[in-house]
Amino acid sequence: MAINRLAPPRLRLERIPAAAWAAAALGVLAAALAFTTSAVAAVLMLLAAAAAYWAMREGRRFVIASSDDDQIELVGLAELAPLLEALPDPALLVDSEGRIVGSNAAARRQMHFETRGQFLTSILRHPDVLEAVHAAVREGATRAVEYEMPAQVDRHTRCYVAPVTWGSDRAAMLVFHDQTAKISTERMRADFLANASHELRTPLASLTLLIETLSGPARDNAVDRDRFLEMMQMQADRMRRLIDDLLSLSRIELDEHVPPSDRADIAAVAREVADSVMPVLKERKVTLDVNAPAEPVRVVGERFQLAQVVQNLVDNAVKYTPEGGVVTLEVAASGDREEVSAQAGRRWEGAGRVALLTPAVAANRSYAYVRVEDSGPGVSKQFLPRLGERFFRVERELGNERGGTGLGLAIVKHIINRHRGGFLVESEPGRGSAFAAYVELAEEG
Ligand code: ADP
Repeated sequence: MAINRLAPPRLRLERIPAAAWAAAALGVLAAALAFTTSAVAAVLMLLAAAAAYWAMREGRRFVIASSDDDQIELVGLAELAPLLEALPDPALLVDSEGRIVGSNAAARRQMHFETRGQFLTSILRHPDVLEAVHAAVREGATRAVEYEMPAQVDRHTRCYVAPVTWGSDRAAMLVFHDQTAKISTERMRADFLANASHELRTPLASLTLLIETLSGPARDNAVDRDRFLEMMQMQADRMRRLIDDLLSLSRIELDEHVPPSDRADIAAVAREVADSVMPVLKERKVTLDVNAPAEPVRVVGERFQLAQVVQNLVDNAVKYTPEGGVVTLEVAASGDREEVSAQAGRRWEGAGRVALLTPAVAANRSYAYVRVEDSGPGVSKQFLPRLGERFFRVERELGNERGGTGLGLAIVKHIINRHRGGFLVESEPGRGSAFAAYVELAEEG
């Protein structure tokens, strides 16, 4: 960057001139002498002394002096740097040569640089930012530049560049505001709305078509009418399920960042869910084996949400298990993250396996798990990582829709995420699927 170097200005405190001291002292002395001859002369002399004192005070002010002045130096451009510490976002002060003369802790942490005096180009090469710095220093222009840095998660930054003038020197101040969370939330919201409206539009289109048929050709045929009404009922149920699941998911997401502090007995929760699915089991001719300890298995968690997890997993297992098949629901206390993953999610030799959610490593933490195993069709390996993605349905990928919402596993994943737990699946086409969720065991006592 070809920027002219200007002489750095310095701020110094002007000394009170000795002449001012002398004038004030002489004034007071003259007033004392004059008092013996004329009162008017004495008053005039006192006014002269006051004026001299005022001149002394006025003379004692900060002035900007040239850099070669050897007076007491108080502030230089770099000394403005501590002001940057008041900013929560990374901030840099760059001089007219493009050198970093000041930075705050956030900048040093995020941009990984140590020494002052480094050139801005050695840590940031985005042309728009460099151009904005140039414009700030040369023309005193203020700009905001948005740029994207490719990384594991793309980072979006808005950089504000403003000129800072100190004496005859000009620098640029850069403040980096991270927009990644905001942009990804906006994208997620847009995707979510597009998906949700698409999913709702399908049953709505079917309903519209059925209503047209019913009010036209099928109006006078009692058999057709009953058939169409039944189909309408199914589509209306599907819309209701979708709306219920969407509302449930958005409620969970609302407080996903606040881990639960309640305690719940996950064995009791599992037994309650097992009781509630009895009628469906009878209708589908599927057996449910519950394998849970009689004594409480207390975990850190919200009972209602944990029941939702077990319910969704059992509902799926029963739904995908053919007539005469068996579903197993198992609850147990296990060990740390590695132990619980092995015990709850690694049982079938040769099966496909994916950890859909893994908690951060935490010392002295033990977990309890729920494992739901079915004897359904299983899920082929390629689809396993996508389970838990909103609206993802294997059937749709394979072209044989079954009418699910594709939100059940997303709900499970978000609840477990809120509980800072883990979620695993192992599956083998032809053998079945097993989903396991684990959450932290509550301390004894
Ligand atoms: P839904 O079952 O309502 O479609 P889910 O989110 O519960 O939605 O499940 C997403 C997809 O995962 C299902 O559509 C299905 O393809 C697959 N899936 C879930 N559970 C099982 C299971 N136990 N066996 C086989 N496939 C399953």
